[in-house]
Amino acid sequence: MPEESGCKPNWRKFLSDTMMHEGILDYLDIMRLAGVAELKKPVRLAAPPAQEVSKDESQKHNEGERPTHLAGTPAPTEKPTEYRLNTDYRHLPKAEQLRYLAEEVALCTLCKDLAESRTQTVFGVGNPDSSLVFIGEAPGMDEDEQGEPFVGRAGQLLTDIIVKGMQMRREDVYICNILRCRPPGNRNPMPDEAAHCRPFLDRTLEIIKPKFICCLGAVAAKNLLASEQTIGALRGRVWDYNGIKVVCTYHPAYLLRNPAAKKDTWDDIKILLREMGK
Ligand code: URA
Repeated sequence: MPEESGCKPNWRKFLSDTMMHEGILDYLDIMRLAGVAELKKPVRLAAPPAQEVSKDESQKHNEGERPTHLAGTPAPTEKPTEYRLNTDYRHLPKAEQLRYLAEEVALCTLCKDLAESRTQTVFGVGNPDSSLVFIGEAPGMDEDEQGEPFVGRAGQLLTDIIVKGMQMRREDVYICNILRCRPPGNRNPMPDEAAHCRPFLDRTLEIIKPKFICCLGAVAAKNLLASEQTIGALRGRVWDYNGIKVVCTYHPAYLLRNPAAKKDTWDDIKILLREMGK
């Protein structure tokens, strides 16, 4: 029994008997909610406490280790209005952190309508070590079917921007959206939907730690930067978001409908490339 658990002796046998059991965190949560002071923290019993570590340390990770948040259903609480993100996997390599986060996303039902109508959640794709993250609006029909962002016609144009315009490979960057579920009929995300999904976006960015973000379209730009300005006003310059340089441009779907705007997007991409030192 790790010393930091601070459990009284009469808990020890119970805990040692059950600590390997996947439901232990649920039990701890219940006990904590019941006011059992000794168990006030949902500690990770079978492994050292979570920590932020360097890449070198992350190589030591045992592949078979499973974060406790995936152990079972959450303890009963009042109806959640915000997803309670588990962070006990912060010490894992970035790709695995993203995989576990994606599993949490897949369980999310905060936006009831979206959860009922989606085929699947669409998390993100690309290189977890990339210095550049593209953020779009929300999955469309193709993305909802395939479970990957930007795989339809707009996605093909985004790929062209990355490959032909930026001379990079699609798999060198990371691509995600403001929403992880498709809004029915591809309507714009509602403010409450964007708010529900925001912790997932923030956590994704915390894990990847990009140096640059490219917002694709008004929804991405206005949501990320918490701005009421139009995309026309937000594009063409560099913004700061928590130390990350942000360039906003038109959404590829808009460019498909308005090819004349491709010139502006190319200007924005050149700003991005200049900032990236390319
Ligand atoms: N449009 C978006 O904003 N995101 C996608 O993933 C696809 C289309």
